[in-house]
Amino acid sequence: MEHRNYVGGEWVAGADTAPNINPSDTADVVGVHARATAQHTNAAIAAAAAAFPAWSRSSPELRGDILDRVGTEILARKDELGELLAREEGKVLAEATGEVVRAGRVFKFFAGEAVRLSGERGASVRPGVDVEILREPEGVVGLITPWNFPIAIPAWKIAPALAYGNTVVFKPAELVPGSAWALAEILSRAGVPAGVFNMVSGPGSQVGQAIVASPMVRAISFTGSVATGRQIGTACLASGKKVQLEMGGKNPLVVLDDADLEIAVNAAINGAFFSTGQRCTASSRLIVEDGIHDAFVAAMVQRMKALRVGHALDAESDIGPVASAAQLAQNLDYVQVGVAEGARLATGGEVLNRPHAGHYMAPALFVETDNAMRINQEEIFGPVAGVIRVRDYEEAVAVANDTEFGLSSGIVTRSLKHAADFKRRSSAGMVMVNLPTAGVDYHVPFGGRKGSSYGPREQGSYAREFYTAVKTAYTLA
Ligand code: NDP
Repeated sequence: MEHRNYVGGEWVAGADTAPNINPSDTADVVGVHARATAQHTNAAIAAAAAAFPAWSRSSPELRGDILDRVGTEILARKDELGELLAREEGKVLAEATGEVVRAGRVFKFFAGEAVRLSGERGASVRPGVDVEILREPEGVVGLITPWNFPIAIPAWKIAPALAYGNTVVFKPAELVPGSAWALAEILSRAGVPAGVFNMVSGPGSQVGQAIVASPMVRAISFTGSVATGRQIGTACLASGKKVQLEMGGKNPLVVLDDADLEIAVNAAINGAFFSTGQRCTASSRLIVEDGIHDAFVAAMVQRMKALRVGHALDAESDIGPVASAAQLAQNLDYVQVGVAEGARLATGGEVLNRPHAGHYMAPALFVETDNAMRINQEEIFGPVAGVIRVRDYEEAVAVANDTEFGLSSGIVTRSLKHAADFKRRSSAGMVMVNLPTAGVDYHVPFGGRKGSSYGPREQGSYAREFYTAVKTAYTLA
């Protein structure tokens, strides 16, 4: 069956179709999806614009009830949706199911937020005048998402957009249309009025660009690569759109001499290699103090050799395949870059053959690396990490912050003094102590600094900064 796009409350065919291929087994076609064009996208934008006046004035209780129903259904179908996600993206089943649960919880959270939205009221400096600070929906919002979290990232953009009364044009990543379609199908039965939510699946160069170019779209929330994000940001500035960008990371995990070695290795293995290293919060720079360096590297190599890389649906697998052939090629190129730069490959980095044809590679650890190397400065987005040896804590902080990115950072230490100091001095948007740099809660702000993010934070009640417009009203009564 062909999975269609959802425009103005109807399921519509695209210009052509594309197969959704399982990266664990490229002979497995997960689904066939209609590919939209700029024309379909403009129809979706027009439908969203037409639906906005009524939706923006609808009861927040109605909106909350709809989001609650969506969250309930996602949670009830977590196993089935988790399997779909694991099949199309390649993260292992436990991670995929966890992501689905997170998406369900996000909808439940914003169901509550819909009725909690409130303004402020205060005295004017002028006698007899009241001042109110009101929050209103922005209008039609365009949501453009990447392939690495096929349901959680759409959820944390769609749920607040709808909760606060905006209408939505959602463009999922072409690589993972299955989870996006399933989410749209759930929304289509949850009581969302026609045109309030629209999904157009298709190439970024057509669908994405049409959303960015449309004067009817008021605001754009994007997650993906730095290059595309900056291009979208520039276009939004030129046309006066509100924009929120979540982009790459080159996240440091600092390991001090006084660290619990097991906590350090667990945090590094999880942060660098789980989800096949395809997380913007992945720990790709492991900054290790001299005294613990050799023991840490030895323990890492031992653990990495025991990691089982295999089919995402195989319960024995710790790590699934890389999501696509293009991403695998990029990862292998970076392994060559590291070797050419003089880093020593301690383990991994090679293609693995499995019974099913898929994009498998062994997680790679480089040692004797320098922070200036390309492998330590550019986002690889795969299971490749570099160890950087440092003399002391001061050098560790300097190296951790010496990057154009600033999404997440971590430190493993038993020292309260160093943990507190690192929380203060880290130039990242999220700081972890004795935890992996990846893995965050859904009810608190998510986002970075420097080249990683632009605009207001996502998630938690902070999401209102992007999805609402502030109005200040003065009344002389
Ligand atoms: P992109 O930034 O290109 O894609 C993200 C989303 O933007 C996709 O939906 C994509 O559509 C869309 N898009 C692409 N071009 C445009 C455009 N001109 N206008 C509007 N929308 C557009 O990332 P990729 O998925 O191609 O991955 C490339 C690299 O980005 C990865 O190798 C990785 O390094 C990094 N990345 C980082 C992520 C992060 O969270 N930090 C997440 C994903 C990727 P389409 O369906 O055509 O891809």
